[in-house]
Amino acid sequence: MNRPEPTLHLKPRKDASLQRRHPWVFAGAVERLGGKAAPGDTVRVVGADGRFLARAAFSPSSAIRARVWTFDEAETVDEAFVAARVHAAVARREPLRERSDALRLVFGEADGLPGCVVDRYAGQLVVQFLSAGVERWRDAIVDALVAATGCAAVYERSDASAREREGLALRAGPIRGEAPAPVPVVEHGVRYRVDVIGGHKTGFYIDQRDNRALVGEHAAGRRVLNCFCYTGGFTLAARRGGAAEATSIDASAEALAMAAANERDNGFESPSTWLQANVFDALKSMLAEGRQFDLIVLDPPKFAPSVQHVDAAARAYKEINLKAMRLLAPGGLLFTFSCSGAITADLLRGIVAGAAVDARVDAQVLRQLAAGIDHPMSITHPEGEYLKGLMLRRM
Ligand code: SAH
Repeated sequence: MNRPEPTLHLKPRKDASLQRRHPWVFAGAVERLGGKAAPGDTVRVVGADGRFLARAAFSPSSAIRARVWTFDEAETVDEAFVAARVHAAVARREPLRERSDALRLVFGEADGLPGCVVDRYAGQLVVQFLSAGVERWRDAIVDALVAATGCAAVYERSDASAREREGLALRAGPIRGEAPAPVPVVEHGVRYRVDVIGGHKTGFYIDQRDNRALVGEHAAGRRVLNCFCYTGGFTLAARRGGAAEATSIDASAEALAMAAANERDNGFESPSTWLQANVFDALKSMLAEGRQFDLIVLDPPKFAPSVQHVDAAARAYKEINLKAMRLLAPGGLLFTFSCSGAITADLLRGIVAGAAVDARVDAQVLRQLAAGIDHPMSITHPEGEYLKGLMLRRM
């Protein structure tokens, strides 16, 4: 016996974003729920005129009240449906396998699995279920991942704050296999160990892979300063690229210990300088000491967690960029990033332009930078764009 499908009725004129295939239904657009739906259940979303718009995952406690699974009325959402999405996402990354052992296999909305993130570190999968919808299909998704990749080890890092906004408790631990020791991976010839249990996000900033390679290509003979170095990503890429010397700064002692160990694993002749400090203070001291660098990386944490934080974040981005420009020798390169979704690429460029003016330096934009192609965004979901950056040359 088929129960009638629970139905989310939208208010009049609130269907425009779904017509444009934006995958979120905000609470304010909802008139009422017809029938009963538990968190994560699939609901039929209809306009005020009753017309079918989408099938979506219901999330009663989130401001994003439903996330679209499909705009196709003929599709039903079941285990086979989510498994097909997983297999397709994994297959799309197949050509990237040779670049690195660290790849993002599933990236939420862009892969049709809203709220689901899956990263692969060699034979270890790390998963995040950050919405009620993918939480509901957790077992089916894990089964499909194991089948699609052949990886027997799956660790869960559903301990991101996004879970709380969905009314879900934080959860972390092994789903398949044991809790892993730091996993060795090789990216563009550089070795890193990834702490999937205690590291940031799923353990590593996979999204910066192409940008680390770019830094490596331009590092030869340069004095490098890597700010917010975490486990040494950009530093080791620069060293492999032939940097003359490297100084790296992070506030976290654990991250720096891992970075130094990663450096040893790569067998460079001598260790570089790892500095535990607040980047804002360290840049100030370096300026006072008259230090100069030929290549600087600024990859700070998300200064603007939401639109409310944009002004304060813009000031912080400007400050570090201004100081970095002053520390750059003429001809020096600056790789500067923001991973705040609320800071648009245009805004970042404006902030950096303001920093250059105030630093009284002229600069060229050589490249606009973004996350790697294993971190796609859906063309109808601009919120998926979070990481942006610029490669600049100080004139
Ligand atoms: N570039 C790195 C990722 C950077 S993540 C990579 O490619 O792997 C941001 C890092 O900034 C974290 O390691 C965090 O410990 C550090 N951090 C945050 N605020 C800081 C501050 N004010 N000063 C120094 N480090 C900071």
